[in-house]
Amino acid sequence: MNKNISTFIGCDNEYSESSVVLFGAPFDGTTSFRPGTRFGPSAIRNESIGIETYSPYQDLDLEDIAVFDAGDLEMAFGNPKLALDTIEAFSKKLLKDAKIPFMIGGEHLVTLGSVQAVSERYPDLCIIHFDAHADLREEYMGEKLSHASVMRRIWDLLGDDRIFQFGIRSGEKAEFAWGKNHVHTNKFDFLGLEELVDKLKGRPVYFTLDLDVLDPSIFPGTGTPEAGGVTFNQLLEAIIKLAPLNIVGLDINELSPIYDQSGVSTAVACKLIREILLMIHQK
Ligand code: MN
Ligand code: MN
Repeated sequence: MNKNISTFIGCDNEYSESSVVLFGAPFDGTTSFRPGTRFGPSAIRNESIGIETYSPYQDLDLEDIAVFDAGDLEMAFGNPKLALDTIEAFSKKLLKDAKIPFMIGGEHLVTLGSVQAVSERYPDLCIIHFDAHADLREEYMGEKLSHASVMRRIWDLLGDDRIFQFGIRSGEKAEFAWGKNHVHTNKFDFLGLEELVDKLKGRPVYFTLDLDVLDPSIFPGTGTPEAGGVTFNQLLEAIIKLAPLNIVGLDINELSPIYDQSGVSTAVACKLIREILLMIHQK
């Protein structure tokens, strides 16, 4: 008899043999518009059986790499600080064991908890951020811990010239103005990504993927859809370009499965997770 344990497809390896650990952070307490990302990680795990483990894009298979799926963290709803502390403590444990934390959100604020842990271990950490939104607000309706402020809070930790944004097509005028002096914002697409990868080679990098960078026609299952996004193939191509980097932590966030009754958005997220897992394991 086997226990009923559901993992992301192909990620049923032992902890000790895995260099990457997947875990869910089902928190959506600060979502500014429509909540629901707390259901992201479980939907992704359940529906991952609908995709193949093999990637024809990279000619690699999840069956040939070792990934441990640690399940979901228990999150304190209504208390962002406590939720972030939980994520930070868990990520620290993984880093201590020489694992790469790969978190599945949840809303984008969860990234802050993981980056707190990763940047403590790697003080010269850089961030590669794909998103429709700049997420650079100083606060949102008086709340400094918000998914609309997550990159600003990460800047508080890391300082100037450490955050590299791509695909950005939404934000306040003030966010873009502030960003000019503190972060590198590439609007609308992935222009300049290759040069950046060359520049960051050898440095520790954290990759955060807010799925709403995709056009809502491809990815409607999200709380703050923003028209004019990139295509799936553009995003996949950009992800594969990250392979030469020393990625020491990463996450994928903002899937809100209930807004897409077709299930396509969840299937898109699953395929991206597969490709990202295989990309990190490219040799
Ligand atoms: Mn975001
Ligand atoms: Mn976003």
